[in-house]
Amino acid sequence: MARPRLLVLSLGGTITMVPGSEGGIVPKLGAEELVSSVPALADVAEIVAQSPFRLPSPSLGPNDLVEVARQIRVAFAEGFDAAMVVQGTDTIEESAFLLDLLVDSDKPVVVTGAMRGASAPGAEGGANLLAAAQVATSPEAAGLGTLAVLNDEIHAARFVQKAHTALPSAFLSPICGPLGIVAEGRARFFTRVSRKPNLAIPDQAPAPIALLKWSMGDDGRLLRNLPSLGFQGLVIEGMGSGNVPADVAPLLGDLAASLPIAYATRAATGPVFTQTYGYPGSQMDLVARGILPSGLLSGLKARLLMALALSDGGTHDAVRQAFEPYQ
Ligand code: ASP
Repeated sequence: MARPRLLVLSLGGTITMVPGSEGGIVPKLGAEELVSSVPALADVAEIVAQSPFRLPSPSLGPNDLVEVARQIRVAFAEGFDAAMVVQGTDTIEESAFLLDLLVDSDKPVVVTGAMRGASAPGAEGGANLLAAAQVATSPEAAGLGTLAVLNDEIHAARFVQKAHTALPSAFLSPICGPLGIVAEGRARFFTRVSRKPNLAIPDQAPAPIALLKWSMGDDGRLLRNLPSLGFQGLVIEGMGSGNVPADVAPLLGDLAASLPIAYATRAATGPVFTQTYGYPGSQMDLVARGILPSGLLSGLKARLLMALALSDGGTHDAVRQAFEPYQ
């Protein structure tokens, strides 16, 4: 039987890192070296491996992922059955969500990486590559959008978060758990997520959006400088279910006249509220001032959704529409 055709794009990250000449590990290996280091991959798929970037993932930008999404869309149109993106774990939760938004196909896209460098004892990169390929080529992965596969767990892009700085089990989907696992070389799904609307690939770079985490006693003095710094939108991570200090709400309300603003939560997970608290600075106060709830999205993911909705001249209404399916 013909093997599925799988495109593997490596962007860098610890999974590609080996000791550099100046100390510490640095990204070096490319997609072909990664793939050839795991001979079992050849049994899973017919692989084309490319290395668009060799970067630590903190240096990837949203526009780099727009380019990756574009490449995947072209590859799917040319007949590839699935795609895998290999990158640093620091920003997987953001990259996976961008790809989820931008790749308009039922064909699987799986993002993976590794917490341990390629030459570290117990490096788990090879195991993650194999598990990711097994998920990407599983018929059950179709229609689930972009998935993140690490530590033999399968996570939905919209929920996955890096939750630990060191452990190979760093990835969690705190709001609902993983969609499934890989066991005995087979993807086993316990649950499924429904697809959310895709967004068009923007012609211009995604809009710059500020992300502010609210902390005790923050009086909002940064807010008035945001437009002059070139930000076109703002996401705040409010307290608990999405609240801010009473004095900050009017400042946010004034700013919302010129910029779209959304509120997420600084708590590790959970939906923001919209109709529980009625005190000044509460989410009900924010909503009344035109500030959008991010629903189930973390601040990091809400920021990217807003950046794409505002790109190519998107309006406040485009942002409202983009956030609606996540409530
Ligand atoms: N700092 C690394 C990166 O994100 C971490 C990793 O890949 O695990 O590139």
